[in-house]
Amino acid sequence: MLFPRHRASRGKVELPEIAPTYFVNPKTILGAIVVVILFFFAIIFAFATNYWPTGLIVSAMLFVVAFGIAYMVTKKPKTVIQKLEVSGQMKAVGLRCPNCSASVDANQIKIVSGVPYATCPYCGHTFEVTEEPKW
Ligand SMILES: [Zn+2]
Repeated sequence: MLFPRHRASRGKVELPEIAPTYFVNPKTILGAIVVVILFFFAIIFAFATNYWPTGLIVSAMLFVVAFGIAYMVTKKPKTVIQKLEVSGQMKAVGLRCPNCSASVDANQIKIVSGVPYATCPYCGHTFEVTEEPKW
C-alpha cells in the first residue's frame, strides 16, 4: 500500500535522492569486520590470561581499539548527508569561494532543490557548487 504512494510522490517532488546514503559504505563493512576480529582476539586473549597475565592488558587494549573503531564506524550515519553532498572529487579538490577565493568547508554545502549550494563562511557569499557530485 505504501509503495505506490511513495513512488508517486517521488515523481512529483524533485528532492535529491536520499537512497544512495543508505548504501552500506565499504569502509563500514571493513570496519565491522575489523571490530569483529578485534573482539574475537580480545576474547581469546582474555581466556588466555590464565596462562599469560600480560594477555589481560592485550585483551583490554584490543577491546579499547575495537570500541574505538566501532564508534568511528557507527557515528558515520550522522555525517552521511555531508558525504552524499561532497562525494568523490569535490572533497579532494576542495571548494573555493568565487567571491573572496577563501577555501570553503565542505560542511557548508547544502542541497537546494537538487543543486548543491555552498555558503562562504568568510564573506557570506552563497554560490552554486559546479562540480557534479557523482551519484
Ligand atoms: Zn567568500
